[in-house]
Amino acid sequence: MPRDDMMAGRLTNWLKGDGATGPADDAFAQLRAAKEAAEAANEAKTRFLASVSHEIRSPLNAIYGYAQLLERNDGKDALNAARVIRRSAEHLSHLVEGLLDIAQVEGGALKLSREAIRFPEFLAQLIAMLDLQAQAKGIALVLDHPPGLPEFVHADPKRLRQVLINLLTNAIKFTDHGSVTLKVEYRNQLATFTVIDTGIGIAPEDAERIFAPFERVAGPAGERPGVGLGLAITQALVHIMGGEIRVESAPGEGSRFIVRLMLSQPLSPPTDPAPEPGVVTGYLGRERWVVLIDDDTAHLAMVRGLLEPLGFQVHTASDGETGLALAAQVQPDLVLCDVMLGRESGWDIAAKLRRRHGAALRIVMLSGEGPHSAMSPADGPANDTFLMKPFEFTVLLDVIAAQLGLEWLRAGGPTRDVPEAAVTHLSPAIASRAAAHCAEIERLVRIGHVRAIEAEIDAIAALAPEAAPLAERMRRVLDSFDLKALADLAKAVAADAR
Ligand code: ADP
Repeated sequence: MPRDDMMAGRLTNWLKGDGATGPADDAFAQLRAAKEAAEAANEAKTRFLASVSHEIRSPLNAIYGYAQLLERNDGKDALNAARVIRRSAEHLSHLVEGLLDIAQVEGGALKLSREAIRFPEFLAQLIAMLDLQAQAKGIALVLDHPPGLPEFVHADPKRLRQVLINLLTNAIKFTDHGSVTLKVEYRNQLATFTVIDTGIGIAPEDAERIFAPFERVAGPAGERPGVGLGLAITQALVHIMGGEIRVESAPGEGSRFIVRLMLSQPLSPPTDPAPEPGVVTGYLGRERWVVLIDDDTAHLAMVRGLLEPLGFQVHTASDGETGLALAAQVQPDLVLCDVMLGRESGWDIAAKLRRRHGAALRIVMLSGEGPHSAMSPADGPANDTFLMKPFEFTVLLDVIAAQLGLEWLRAGGPTRDVPEAAVTHLSPAIASRAAAHCAEIERLVRIGHVRAIEAEIDAIAALAPEAAPLAERMRRVLDSFDLKALADLAKAVAADAR
């Protein structure tokens, strides 16, 4: 008898109430174990998804807080805010990778980078990122380190930042009065980070288990948001970095989380401690269309000269009405609009653009008139963001990338990948089979299920040798985590097969 039929037979016997024990009991026990395992996995998945919000909260708060500050303070201190916002946004995108890393940590496959980082600057940036969060709770966030801290140390900045952010956000979360201090000591290549808070503290019986996944302290502590993954990730990362973490605490007396790590010093100061990523040469995905509106023709020429070589389709207008007509004609993805267009107001043009094109059109206002001109009219901002002239080109690129969700291609990196060109080599039979996988990839992209996407790409590669280049191209796009570009590519394949 085939195995499945045998199982079905045993199960039927059990359902019929056949009193016989032995094999039927075994089958039932197996089924029950399988069901329980599936349920446990499902619960773990739900908790894991919830943990994503825990991880993204601090940088998101920084972005939210500084954006509100900009609105309230007439854009005062706008550059500083923009920097914190950009760094937080960068941190967010790093976190997406971090989430994938957790899977790697669990699988024992995480690779650490080793970079020379500017140590005091790194710490100061971290504090700036969390400062608003502490201020919102009325507690002080203090960085305490001796003046002699080495200027450079070797570390994996992404992981070290993740560890300290996890501890500091917890300290802020579990403290209602007083302060949170990040104390940093360094002796003989050994760095000791102590996160000290004056918060609710932890009972001795809980001090160990809080490092386990999904463990949280019940009672008032448990009522605060969180899912209990932060410390598990933190501990795993510290161990992978070869360090140790422990906690000293008592209820009502605050907590001290102590992390000790060997962070060696470079023998000589690195010439380029954090090497700039390669020069931007283009971007992934379809061609984006940009309309520039500025009465300064020299400025138009400059921005066009900067953007066109990167693959943007650029159209220019030197007054508002022409700009509106142009936008209606070319339906751009992005408009860069000067605030002072001769006697016209750029804000009026932005408002009209917004009314006519809706929220999908990204509008970036440019002004050389000082921060006060960043104020949009009282009826609400029609623009998506604001940039002061003169701006560094890299800052403009940061803004464009953020607005359009672009991933840059850089010198030395992968080459431009145009979805439309990807499918030309498939024979109709293979194209239609690839299309089925591509439809599934489009669905998986929407839920961000990277593992399953990989499996679909493997399935495409296995279809026929002629599909290998397409699969390879998809893997590259997936590696750069440009899921939007991957969806575009999958869509192009599906469309080509029809
Ligand atoms: P989460 O903060 O999402 O609950 P963590 O793994 O970061 O998850 O923390 C686990 C538990 O440890 C928390 O729920 C809390 O009970 C306790 N805890 C962590 N940090 C502190 C702290 N600084 N003060 C008091 N309790 C803390």
